[in-house]
Amino acid sequence: MRVKLGLLGWPVGHSLSPRIFSTLGEELGVDLSYRAIPIAASELAGELDSLHADGYAGVNVTIPHKQAALAFLDSLTPEAKAIGAVNTISFSGAKSKGHNTDAQGFLDALAAGGFHTDGIDAVVYGAGGAARAAAWALGEAGAKSVRICARRGEQAKKLATDLKKLFRSTEFSAGPSRDADLWVNATPLGMEGFPDESPAGRGKSRMAFDLVYGRETAFLGQAREAGAKTLDGLSMLVFQALRGWEFWFKPLGKTREQLAAMILRELK
Ligand code: NAP
Repeated sequence: MRVKLGLLGWPVGHSLSPRIFSTLGEELGVDLSYRAIPIAASELAGELDSLHADGYAGVNVTIPHKQAALAFLDSLTPEAKAIGAVNTISFSGAKSKGHNTDAQGFLDALAAGGFHTDGIDAVVYGAGGAARAAAWALGEAGAKSVRICARRGEQAKKLATDLKKLFRSTEFSAGPSRDADLWVNATPLGMEGFPDESPAGRGKSRMAFDLVYGRETAFLGQAREAGAKTLDGLSMLVFQALRGWEFWFKPLGKTREQLAAMILRELK
């Protein structure tokens, strides 16, 4: 029987997730369909219910629904609960369960890029769902400090306060940008709608990681000019999908690194 999967977000027209999952389905011998479904915030609860009733095995959720989706689920994995955002939902019987694979996908991508996170100073731009996952992951991976820079100071402070309680040996703070080993763009600046904008503020970094994918962003261009190494969001997108597959189905049967390399070749 064909497995039904999908992606809920706004916008989703640009998403590579349908191609990633169809490549993975072919490689792993699973017959699946994966639909990108554009929906507004007011339609999220109804759409989740209707896909569940329609026999979907699960869905991904993306910008701007990752935090809002929490309220409509029966249970959460410990990571999703701690991060306060979900990107992967499974439907099993009458129940829905939310998980967050962005955090682990973020760390997988940094590791694949040869960047070590233990003991580093990091700056995360943004305080939405992806920023929460990246900042949580950096605490989990033993960063020395994480500074959250966001347009809404209150949201940044809340994220820093939430994470301080979970990771005692990482110093979380909210405030303006500063020098760091790693800068992470977890805002939509650089994507459709904001192609030439960058959130980067004062200071510089050794590595700049833009979670936006599929284009050369101003954030990455500026960082490279200042001498930093750079990583775009494509490899994280692939790794979070592989982690999502493992949550929905079963172990992959091949290493994540092998499958990620194969999918990245396919997407080029
Ligand atoms: P989100 O929950 O809507 O959060 C977006 C954040 O960016 C919020 O803190 C928001 O703060 C801030 N922001 C929005 N517009 C801004 C602007 N014009 N200037 C400065 N800050 C702005 O979205 P998300 O799910 O975290 O996604 C953020 C980005 O990460 C998106 O580009 C998404 O595609 C990317 N992403 C990539 C991956 C991957 O696998 N590569 C995974 C997850 C997310 P305010 O509301 O205060 O402005």
